[in-house]
Amino acid sequence: MPELPPDLLGTLRGAGRVVALTGSGISAESGVPTFREAQTGLWERFDPLELATPEAFARDPRLVWDWYEWRRGLVERAEPNPGHLALAQLERRLPAFTLITQNVDGLHQKAGSEYVTELHGNILRSRCSLEATVVEDYAPGEAPPPCPNCGAPLRPDVVWFGEALPTEVSRVASEAAGACDLFLSVGTSSLVYPAAALPFEALENGARLVEINPNETPLTPYATHVVRGEAGKILPALVGAAFV
Ligand code: NAD
Repeated sequence: MPELPPDLLGTLRGAGRVVALTGSGISAESGVPTFREAQTGLWERFDPLELATPEAFARDPRLVWDWYEWRRGLVERAEPNPGHLALAQLERRLPAFTLITQNVDGLHQKAGSEYVTELHGNILRSRCSLEATVVEDYAPGEAPPPCPNCGAPLRPDVVWFGEALPTEVSRVASEAAGACDLFLSVGTSSLVYPAAALPFEALENGARLVEINPNETPLTPYATHVVRGEAGKILPALVGAAFV
């Protein structure tokens, strides 16, 4: 049983509006590698930060598509862990809870979370690189496959480094962060902007900030409570102790 700061349970029980922002750390216990860990096997020669860009796709669409196909395979085989499940439970327990994720793996939805604001899209969807429409059915074979409507190459429906977040998603996340009184930052290095700005929008509104992460991050000095450890252990303990 992980040790929880004594006043954290009261803070969670008494909170009106709660936001949780998750990063790739919450899916690590489901076997989905973080970017750094993704540099293994076939792909160890490539820097993921240089594959997840529009420039890389323009230069070598096949390489980028194949890399995403490999990651899609990992994600499809993954199952949510107790951390994802605890956040789904929190959604059912709290009257005003917003889950925002930087992850593209769909594991929150698989765990039962109904409303998930996906800042960076979803790796399991593809869209036309020209028309931006999501394409469900395409003929396998070519990599990347052509859009059935216009023939332009399909791409994963994710936000690459250097691209803007979808406007509506960005607005929903920003509004929720700016209006909450408790913000949980879970499994994120707090380095990738604009997601990393969300806890600061919450702090400006006077919210309390909780960081759940085995390691220190640039957000740590601003946190009201820091809980060091794995999300898959801390979150179920926290939700269980606060509400059962
Ligand atoms: P990051 O890789 O920069 O940081 C991961 C953080 O998780 C680290 O701070 C690490 O200490 C922490 N962590 C590791 N194991 C943990 C655990 N068991 N419990 C709690 N925390 C743990 O990830 P990021 O902050 O999400 O930002 C990087 C970008 O990578 C994001 O834009 C995201 O879209 C993308 N990404 C997503 C996935 C995914 O969908 N699962 C995977 C790889 C990368």
